[in-house]
Amino acid sequence: MTARILDGNALSAKLRGELAARAATLTAQGVQPCLAVILVGGDPASAVYVRNKVAGCEKAGIKSLKYEYPQDAAPADVLGRIAALNADPAVHGILVQLPLPPQFDEKAVLEAISVEKDVDGFHAENVGRLSQGQDAFVPCTPNGVMEMLKSENVPLRGAEAVVIGRSNIVGKPMAMLLTAAGATVTVCHSATRDLAFHTRRADILVAAVGRPRFVTGDMIKPGAVVIDVGINRLTDGPDAGKLCGDVDFASAAPVAGLITPVPGGVGPMTITMLLANTVQSAGRVARKG
Ligand code: NDP
Repeated sequence: MTARILDGNALSAKLRGELAARAATLTAQGVQPCLAVILVGGDPASAVYVRNKVAGCEKAGIKSLKYEYPQDAAPADVLGRIAALNADPAVHGILVQLPLPPQFDEKAVLEAISVEKDVDGFHAENVGRLSQGQDAFVPCTPNGVMEMLKSENVPLRGAEAVVIGRSNIVGKPMAMLLTAAGATVTVCHSATRDLAFHTRRADILVAAVGRPRFVTGDMIKPGAVVIDVGINRLTDGPDAGKLCGDVDFASAAPVAGLITPVPGGVGPMTITMLLANTVQSAGRVARKG
């Protein structure tokens, strides 16, 4: 068996087209969706992510505001900016690019963002709402994975799903969303004994580990749906400098039924869902009049 490829670029293009149409309608009603992005410090990967988010906004007709602070920025300045953006009715989404420099209390910064504008879905109240099945901003990466599964009509109810990773931004919300959709979910992490025992049972396997080519073909159930969230830059070997996922694509693709590539899989969907959350937030404002 050779897996079909679940193309995140193609699905993103389709969804972004729909979002652009919705953004244009809202703009015509006098509510142009607007995302404010805060970047602190000079981390090159963060700068690339922010650039891609801003470019994604512009292409979809979403206004973006970018605020950059130096590595030694005072937390009070950034918190002051967040307070001003919270109070600005023309701003519908606020995003602080992580990680923050060490003088910042990351949790305090995330909690300072208004729940109504928390388009990353990292605020504790949004996390709590999501866990209780209430209306909430869903974190973008796991939300993007759910859209990918939906686009392929992957049966979730009763499916065995295994998530490797339990981070707040990917693993935990991923497990919550799959559970809500009716899957039987196992969450694995660094203390899991016999990881392969779990992964080989998975109808749906989500890898969010941060280790290049960590999941190999012999760990995958034949025909499984394999979602590779990892984004790793290889530092040595013949592919040095290239991006790769947490799944060893070469050994996994002949075993899996459906697989996401890296790049071009989950990555583009993450930004698409950020745009979707921003448009959704603007839609709420427009409905309130
Ligand atoms: P974290 O480092 O926060 O979490 C990694 C998780 O993997 C932890 O829960 C850790 O367990 C677990 N883990 C580490 N080693 C092992 C092991 N040997 N066996 C089983 N589990 C293990 O990473 P993130 O969740 O933030 O990101 C994961 C990956 O996804 C990264 O490559 C990141 O770059 C990528 N990413 C991609 C995005 C996209 O848009 N495609 C968006 C966000 C992230 P423990 O909790 O015990 O330490």
